[in-house]
Amino acid sequence: VTNFIRERDAGGAVVLEITGRITLGEYSLKFRDCIRDLVAHQRTRIVLDFSQVTYVDSAGVGELVSAYTTVANHGGKITLSHPRLRSMDLMKITKLGGVYEITSSVEEAISGIQSARLTFLCIVSRCETWSPFEAAGPEYQTCTRCGSQSKLALTGAAEAMQSVEVVQVSIPSYGGEYAAVIPGRPCRVEVHGRLDLFALNSARKAASTARAAVFDLSAVTEATPRAWSALFELLAAFDSTAFLPKRSSLTVTPAAGNDILFDDLRQAEEAHFAALERSARRRGTTPTYERRLHTYFLT
Ligand SMILES: [Zn+2]
Repeated sequence: VTNFIRERDAGGAVVLEITGRITLGEYSLKFRDCIRDLVAHQRTRIVLDFSQVTYVDSAGVGELVSAYTTVANHGGKITLSHPRLRSMDLMKITKLGGVYEITSSVEEAISGIQSARLTFLCIVSRCETWSPFEAAGPEYQTCTRCGSQSKLALTGAAEAMQSVEVVQVSIPSYGGEYAAVIPGRPCRVEVHGRLDLFALNSARKAASTARAAVFDLSAVTEATPRAWSALFELLAAFDSTAFLPKRSSLTVTPAAGNDILFDDLRQAEEAHFAALERSARRRGTTPTYERRLHTYFLT
């Protein structure tokens, strides 16, 4: 029997019909490439049809386990269908069964994978967690790990979407208070509520999600001297600047360097662009003034 992999679509799922022996060597590598290619194209609902597999050695089992991990790490699901018991000894079946959901028919595998729940990826820096997507739910989707709220630019059925633009991500600090990342040119970060060392954690996550931004401090209600110092360090590290309107009653101590904090939004933006240009020149690259954020839906 010749080894080959045939790929077919089945209502949002990909069925890989695998024929032959999965053993150490070229065919295992071909299988690995095939999985990586699917994942790279966000096609991560995968059914492995094993009905034509004649033999699997330990290297093949290792390859199957790592395929499972690759797909799961991308928020997807992969199941194994119809393995012939003769092609594997009990130990290998047991090992794969500990990882894979094994179904007795391809149809069963397809319907199982289609009804899998839709999830979306949180893009907050160092969170990157998949959470259930509430299709008929609120305007904002909530991350189960960091509690951030993502507003997504939905333009069709969520089920049909793989990649979607993020309009805003709000990262909570105190109840009802948050730092919001708003992509655009420039990307903005709005700080709402108190600015102390605790709230600064949210501002820090916002800064590293945005990578560079103009911080709008109009909605800051109170701020501590230690938070001001930490914020100014943060802004400098991320080629960012801040805008605090003249009418604000906040006392800024210690004072910021004169290229960091502005009472004019336009000036804050220009200084931010200038910081981006300096950084780009240092790295020998071209500055990017616009920042767009995307996330993914998967099952
Ligand atoms: Zn999160």
